[in-house]
Amino acid sequence: MVRRTLLIATRNAGKLRELADLLAVTPFDLVSLVDVGIDDEVEETGETFEQNAALKAETYSRLSGLPTLADDSGLEVDALEGEPGVRSARYAGPNASDDDRIAFLIGKLDNVPEDTWSARFRCVVAVAWLDRPTELYPGACEGMIVRQARGDSGFGYDPVFYVPMLGKTMAELTSEEKNRISHRSVAARKASEALGDRS
Ligand code: IMP
Repeated sequence: MVRRTLLIATRNAGKLRELADLLAVTPFDLVSLVDVGIDDEVEETGETFEQNAALKAETYSRLSGLPTLADDSGLEVDALEGEPGVRSARYAGPNASDDDRIAFLIGKLDNVPEDTWSARFRCVVAVAWLDRPTELYPGACEGMIVRQARGDSGFGYDPVFYVPMLGKTMAELTSEEKNRISHRSVAARKASEALGDRS
């Protein structure tokens, strides 16, 4: 069987490893942006995770001439009407750290009763093809925001995202535990299953 190549369009080394693991079973040889020598950045101008994921996958597919998988993700807090959403990375300004973003988020929730701080991480994986419409695979992970940050693993909002099912914040999970339940792994697993039929 002729193996085809799939570009994984992320610059985040952790995400690349996670996606490569989940996609290892597909009949595709995986390459990264570094492997194909692309250093253009795609501005995330979309208003939804779907739009941003498709924008990244389609842009990098055009630049590389390869079928391309990209993802977009973020945190949605119900009491903040879905904020920070697609603005998760930029929530507290362009030069803010993860700690600054967490402090900003908790500040926004200050006058809201803590037992209503329900939230979810969302991810959309997009696969852009050269000869057919882009496919979108969504994933979500439900939880609660907690005031007190806990745990040193993961990144972003993980220390204040409590996963009731496991009784821990996302930052207290091992990477294996996180990969079992995370929004990104749910979406990537769906993409992986679909890619199995596309060789
Ligand atoms: P992007 O998908 O790289 O654009 O990620 C957007 C932002 O959402 C990240 O910078 C984080 O702030 C947040 N985010 C996405 N996924 C996670 C996660 O698994 N844990 C914690 N924060 C996340």
